[in-house]
Formats: sequence, C-alpha cells, structure tokens
Amino acid sequence: MKKNRYSIFSLARNAVSYHKDWRAAWRSPDPAPSYDVIVVGGGGHGLATAYYLAAKHKVGRIAVLEKGWIGGGNTGRNTTIVRSNYLWDESAHLYEKSLQLWEGLSQELNFNVMFSQRGVMNLGHSLQDMRDIYRRSNANRLNGIDSEILSPAEIKAMVPAMNVSENARYPVLGASFQPRGGVARHDAVAWGFARAADERGVDIIQNCEVSGILKENGAVTGVETNRGVIRSSKVAVVAAGHSSVLGSMAELRMPIESHPLQALVSEPLKPVLDTVVMSNAVHGYISQSDKGELVIGAGIDAYVGYGQRGSFSIIEGNVAAIVELFPVFSRVRMLRQWGGIVDVCPDACPIVSKTSIKGLYFNCGWGTGGFKATPGSGWVFAHTVAHDEPHALNAAFNIERFTTGALIDEHGAAGVAH
Ligand SMILES: Cc1cc2nc3c(=O)[nH]c(=O)nc-3n(C[C@H](O)[C@H](O)[C@H](O)COP(=O)(O)OP(=O)(O)OC[C@H]3O[C@@H](n4cnc5c(N)ncnc54)[C@H](O)[C@@H]3O)c2cc1C
Repeated sequence: MKKNRYSIFSLARNAVSYHKDWRAAWRSPDPAPSYDVIVVGGGGHGLATAYYLAAKHKVGRIAVLEKGWIGGGNTGRNTTIVRSNYLWDESAHLYEKSLQLWEGLSQELNFNVMFSQRGVMNLGHSLQDMRDIYRRSNANRLNGIDSEILSPAEIKAMVPAMNVSENARYPVLGASFQPRGGVARHDAVAWGFARAADERGVDIIQNCEVSGILKENGAVTGVETNRGVIRSSKVAVVAAGHSSVLGSMAELRMPIESHPLQALVSEPLKPVLDTVVMSNAVHGYISQSDKGELVIGAGIDAYVGYGQRGSFSIIEGNVAAIVELFPVFSRVRMLRQWGGIVDVCPDACPIVSKTSIKGLYFNCGWGTGGFKATPGSGWVFAHTVAHDEPHALNAAFNIERFTTGALIDEHGAAGVAH
C-alpha cells in the first residue's frame, strides 16, 4: 500500500502552520529534452491517458504538455453528465467501461471526484421519441447496461417540479432512465488524475503550447513548443477543440469541425432536482449542483470557431426550453454563462486511433459528450499508445472509418449536448 501523504495529520499540521510548506499537489518541472511519450493536452482525457500509461503500462518518462492550465479547456467547462446508454454496441461498451471506472475512481485516485449516481433521464415528447427510447433501452439491456422506461406519472413522482401535463407544447410521454448515470465534479477529475500521475513521475508542464509536430521518414520525432523542442518517438494528441489544428501541424486532415458549446448556471436554490433531466426535442438539459445551482446546457452553436463563447440566441432558446419543462424555474435568476470548443465528428463518435504517421496518435471528436468518457478514454488510449495497437474497446473508433465507411452513427444518443 502506498504511503498516504494527505493524511488527517498533514491537514491539521498545515492548518496550524497557515499552510506554510504546504506541498503542491503536483510538481511544475521544466521540460526534459526527451520523453518516452508526450501527451499533448492537459484536459481530463490527456491526464487520464498519462495516468494509465504510468500506472498500468509502466511507461517510464511521460510528459503532459498543456498550453494553458490543466482542466481549463472543456474539462472545466462541461455540465458533468455521466451515462453509458448509447445505442450501438461499440459505443455502449466503451462508455460502459468508462462508467465502471467512474464507480471506483475516487478510490483509485485517492481523490474525491464527487461522482454522484443520481440517475439520468432522457425524455420522450412524441410517438417517434418513445419508439427511439424503447429501441435504445432494449439495446442497452442486451449489453448489460441498466435502463428503465418511466411513465409520465413515474417521472412526476421523481421530479415534482416538471410539467408533465398533456397540454404542454411538448408533452412528456415518458422517459428512459439510467439509474447508474449521474454527475461528477469536473475540476476534481483533472486534479485527481494530475496528482496521481505526478506521484508516478509524470511531468505535467503547463503554459507549454505545442506549435509543431516533428517527423522524419514517416515517423514522429517530437514537438516544437514555446519552451523549445521536446523529443519523443510517441506523441499522443488529446487536444479537444483544437484537434484539427494539431492535425494540420502533421499534415493530417482530420474529419472534425470545432463548434462552441455553451452552458449556464442559476443562483443557488434549495434542493429541488435530484436527478439529471435531458430532452433532445426541446434541446435542453438540467441538473442541480451540490452548491444548489441549476446547471443548464443546450446544443452546439451551429457555426464553427475557436472562441470560447457562444451566441445569445442559443441561450434564449435553451432557457425557453427549460421553462417549458419547469415553469416553476421561470423566476430563477441566471448567475453566469460560458462556452467551450468541442470537436465534432460526422458520426457523433470519437476518434481514438493510430495515424498514418508512426508514433503519432489522436484521441478527439468526443463532441458534446466526452466528459463521461474521461477514465475510459484514458484507459483505451493508454493501451493504444503503449502497445501501438488499439484496445478491443476502441478498435472501431479508428480514423480509417471515414474512408472505409464503417461509421458508428450515435446522433440519436448524442443528440443534445451532454
Ligand atoms: C458547455 C459544455 C458542456 C458539456 N457537457 C458535457 C456533459 O454534460 N457530459 C459529457 O460527457 N461531456 C460534456 N461536454 C464535453 C466534454 O467537456 C468534452 O468532450 C471533454 O471534456 C473533452 O475532454 P478533453 O480532456 O479531451 O478536452 P479538454 O479539457 O478541452 O482538454 C484539451 C486540452 O488541450 C489543450 N490544448 C489545445 N491545443 C494545445 C496545444 N497546441 N498545445 C498544448 N495544449 C493544447 C487545451 O488547452 C485543453 O486544456 C461538454 C462540453 C462543453 C463545452
């Protein structure tokens, strides 16, 4: 058993010493001239990749290069919904692996990621919605994934604040419900993986922007950064929002569009909603944070761009959709709003893959729904990088599928931002 240097005694000692000599949760080393593996991007996926490379695959010298601060991209901007109820076997298995990792993550990292299995509800507002819900729910059960169908009365019993009247513009006809789904604290996920990776010797280098990918004879040899050239024969890119920018540095054309995606939170309220409610039809979803804020999100802004902000029309439509479902929230004041940049693939599924350049790997295209995949994505990507072969769970998510046509269309399960 590893010595726990974050014991209650160290907390007490630091409290009385006014945090003098408080040890940083991770080091801030200067970059070494070379590494066995360079991970580009210090979001949750990149940090999880580095953690599993070190902890499971015993790779020796690993660096995570982050152009800003860790978790400052989509990881710290998302609405934290975690679920695994995807339609197709390939996605269902990958997200379910991730959900299983979530269930033991706080213990694995010795860091409370505040994973709360409060359930995720997907509403149906039309006959076709309900047919899709039954189809997906049955597919989930065949894959051993928990899924229930709720009637409007059962929904009302669980979420009294929701309007399930037949007279609503979009009447609630039923819902699928995944009890094991829920939410987690997004910053804690980045911090937990960072601290655990650092403990295993991973160099986490912030304010280190990759501006070039170096290659010779069809193989990667390192990266150019604002802190100089760093060499490695393996470069793993996990730079959500900027994957096509990184791809172009290696002359790879990625099948990716980068879109703004927004979220907003209300002033804190007393507990009023203890599950997650999503609706593809009205295009909104909502949960309540432990602080009491209503956490609300919508779909992507339709245009492409790299500005971490969005347009007002999305917020307007989003809030209207939420008030439609929850008239009682119409007088709640919104506190703040923000945006991230998400990489979207044409089939609404990620790319976790080797590339045509030896030693260069890409993990991207998680679109609006990659937070839930954080541990699973790191798990399979670490395997892919360590063995130079995909794990069985990400073999189908290769980059060649956009030329072979073996797409995995998850637009139904990923239809609204989540
Ligand atoms: C508003 C919003 C709501 C969302 N809601 C959910 C949700 O409820 N559930 C869910 O599952 N998913 C959700 N998502 C999606 C989810 O946040 C992402 O899919 C996921 O966080 C991607 O993780 P990541 O670690 O790959 O990316 P990021 O956290 O974005 O990490 C990528 C990192 O790469 C860095 N980087 C980029 N270029 C370079 C470079 N040249 N050099 C060095 N570093 C670089 C960036 O600074 C960034 O820190 C949401 C996203 C947004 C924006």
